[in-house]
Order: sequence, then structure tokens, then C-alpha cells
Amino acid sequence: MRVAALEALTDPADAPAAAPGGVDALTVGRRIRHHRRARGLTLAELGAVVGAAQSALSQVENGKREPRLSLIAAVAAALDVELTDLLDPAPPPSRRTALEIELDRAQRSPLVRELGLPAVRAGRSLPLDALESLAALHRELARRHDAANATPEEARRANTQLRTLMRAVDNHLPELEALAEDVVRSAGYRGGALTHRTVTRIADDLGFTLLHVEDLPHSTRTVTDLANGRIYLPPASIPGGHGLRSLALQAIAHRVLGHERPQSYADFLRQRLEINYFAAACLMPRSASVEFLSAAKAGKDIAVEDFRDAFGVTHEAAGHRLTNLLTAELGIPVHFLRVGEDGALYRGYENDGVPFVQDATGAIEGQPVCRRWTARTVFDVTDRTTENYQYTDTPAGTFWCSSQTGSTREGGFSITVGVPYAHAKWFRGRDTRVRARSSCPDAACCRRPPADLAAHWAGRSWPSARLHAQTLAPLPSGTFPGVDDHEVYAFLAAHAPAPGTSPDGRPD
Ligand SMILES: [Zn+2]
Repeated sequence: MRVAALEALTDPADAPAAAPGGVDALTVGRRIRHHRRARGLTLAELGAVVGAAQSALSQVENGKREPRLSLIAAVAAALDVELTDLLDPAPPPSRRTALEIELDRAQRSPLVRELGLPAVRAGRSLPLDALESLAALHRELARRHDAANATPEEARRANTQLRTLMRAVDNHLPELEALAEDVVRSAGYRGGALTHRTVTRIADDLGFTLLHVEDLPHSTRTVTDLANGRIYLPPASIPGGHGLRSLALQAIAHRVLGHERPQSYADFLRQRLEINYFAAACLMPRSASVEFLSAAKAGKDIAVEDFRDAFGVTHEAAGHRLTNLLTAELGIPVHFLRVGEDGALYRGYENDGVPFVQDATGAIEGQPVCRRWTARTVFDVTDRTTENYQYTDTPAGTFWCSSQTGSTREGGFSITVGVPYAHAKWFRGRDTRVRARSSCPDAACCRRPPADLAAHWAGRSWPSARLHAQTLAPLPSGTFPGVDDHEVYAFLAAHAPAPGTSPDGRPD
């Protein structure tokens, strides 16, 4: 599935043609070729049966042409296979076919085209060992390219580009909203919080069993065994982190969205955004959420904590989900921040003009947040049982914000949702008397130390800096970004079911 708003991140010319059902055209084509050869038919013979020109059929088999569903159905009938056999997104049946697809795809990548190498036809005349060797070389070339290129700058640039794209669409992706709604409704969702049981049913509908294990590889949050239809999850919720339902839904999302190995850091970020979005849209489905929020708006009583409790999610998940829905569905511009106790922004979004501090590349993550903003003053509040409200005057106007604090092993953090003054009227806490003035990004606002302290301590102190956890790391060199594949494969091997047992380990 391709999300329109995010298309700009990848050159559409490089994208493989899509076939019906979201399976890419090359996979369908190679499956057709595999079954045609197994029947001993030539292209011309098959073409004659299904009423398609030999050249057209050849283009279909090579993934250069998107076949119509009617043609695929005719081919399936002619070859005496099920339609689903041809539309299966899984790797094709033989090792040789899988390698042919891999080589074809690699040769079409921008990286290889840039090198100007003559393309090798991955046909039957190419010996299997040559095919193996070429595919392996391309795999290694891509891996080294990724490792060398994903500098922190590239990562930050990709991140900023993604945020700009999302801002332009008010952080709202209709395709993912519709897909998530469809998936949860099919699994029996009727309203309110999405239960763990429904999530299990969603996995089941897609042919997956959820298994909780103690020994997940350190570099992973979840691991999916595509061959055996299993999703491995941690044994319990991570405090202050992702809930289990969310983790399971994110793992499922990779499959539902037809993700393939990310080709670049931008690709990796886009996939991560999509799975997070999909999981949030399942936990807080659009229709039920909009109904809930519209009622709250009508009563001038929108509150993040109510939304959170109605859907049984974390404060952060609820607050962030509001950025997907408030503008697009209720006409309210909004901003969102997750700020650490150290005052640095971990995660931020705005389409209401609230002035985030940016670095030279346009990145906002890791930048200091004004000490006078609600996101930071909330740390001084002793009553943390409820949200804290504040109006803040900034050079970009006055904003009303609601903040709530939480903590993880790494320290405290605050979650803030805010809107411009004119929209505060829809929210609980609009009547707060707390008001602050901020002139950030002017350094005189709150970042320059008081003159007397500076005069005393300058030259008489030596603080040693700690690296910020939110600094984006370069792409590690494993098969998947950030993941130690040795560890992952060893893990998968240790957990794979014995032959002749069902996915959950029971005898068939
Ligand atoms: Zn300030």
C-alpha cells in the first residue's frame, strides 16, 4: 500500500508497479512465469489461451506492466492454479525464482543504475551459481551503501522532510485511517477501547499467532517469523513505553502495508511512521474517536485525559492521536510535544505556528524547549494527578496548552497538547489563570544564565556533557536498520516450531 502524502519521499519512477491487492507486479509476474514454465507452456501459447499478446505477457512477467485482475484470473484458470497463488505476496516457490526477482530488483535500484553497469538478464540461461553470486554481491553493495550513507545529517534531513510532509497534510493520512478502521471492524470492534482479544483476532485473520517470549533479541521490539506465521512480542508491557497491543499492531502493520526491506533511512522512517500511525488508528479508530471528540467539542470539554481513558491508551498516544484528528476532522490547529526533564524536545508536531527551536538543518528533536512553556513549567507542579493548563504569550501569538507528566527509567517527561488562543474555548482548562510570557528563540528569554551567576562561575566550573539519547544514530549495518541480524536469526532458529506442528506449537 502506498500512502499518497508520503510518495515524495521516494522517487515514484523507482517504485515497482503495483498489482491488485497491493502485491508488487514483479512478484505476480514471476509467479506467473514459474507456473507457466512448470506447465511447459511458452509465452505465445499462454498468450493465445488468455487472449493477450506475447509481448504484453512478457512485460507482465518482468514486472514492467501492471496486470489487470481479469488477466491474472484468466492466467490462473489457464495454468490451473488458484488466483491467490498468483497474488501471494510471499516469496515465490523456488529458490531460483526468488533470486531472479532479487537480482532484477537490485539492478533496477537507483544505486546500481548510477554505476552504469550493463544489466544481466536473470533468465534461464544464467547458471544458478552465477545468479546466487550476483544476488549476494548486490545485497552486500546495498548494505555497504546504506552503512556509508546514513550519516546523522542524512538522518536528520530525512526526518525533517517527513515532518514537513506530514505538516502539509495536517498529520492526517486518510488511506491508513480507512485501512485501520476496516481491519478492526472486520475483527469485531464495535467501539471504546480495542481489547487485547480483538488484537489477537486481527493477527489471526492475517494468519499470525502472537507469542510472548522472554528472550527477544536486544536490538528488536518485535520479530515476525513470516515462514511460520508468528509474531514474537515481549512478555509484558514496557512501563512508559509501547503497550503490547500497540507493539503487536505495529508488527502486523508491516505485513498489512506490504513493507519491504527499507532502501534508505528515509524509507525506514516512513515505514516507522506508517506502522505507528496504523497502530494508533486501530487503538483509536477514526469513527469512534471523531464521535467522542465531537461530543466533547460540543460540550466545550475536550480533554486529553478523557480521550486517553475512553480508549485505554497512554497519555502520549492519546495526545499524539489528537494531532491526526483535531485539524482534519474538527477544524482545530494543534501542537504536540514530548519533552524530557532535561528540557529537550523528544518528539514534536505543530500546524498552529507555535515557535519550536530548530537547528541549522531544520530539525527540532533534541532542541531546547523554552523554560516558560507549559511543557517545562509542569515539572515544577507538585499536583501531577491531573493535567496542568497554561496560557503562554510567544512572539507567534498566545497559545493555550495542557501538560501531563510521566516517568520512565530514563527519567521524567511531559506530554503537551496545545492550541492557539482562539481555539482554547473548546477545551477543559480554558479558564486557567496561569499565564506566562516567552520570547524564545531569543536567547535572552531563558537560555542565557543570570549575569551574577555567570560572573561567578564562568572559568570556575567544568561540566562533562552527556550524549543526548534522542540524537539520531547512523543506520547500523545489519540487514534491517538498527538490528543485529545474527542475533535475530539465531533467535528465530531457536524458536521455530518443529516440523509438523501448528504455529502456536501444538501438534497439527
Ligand atoms: Zn524561553
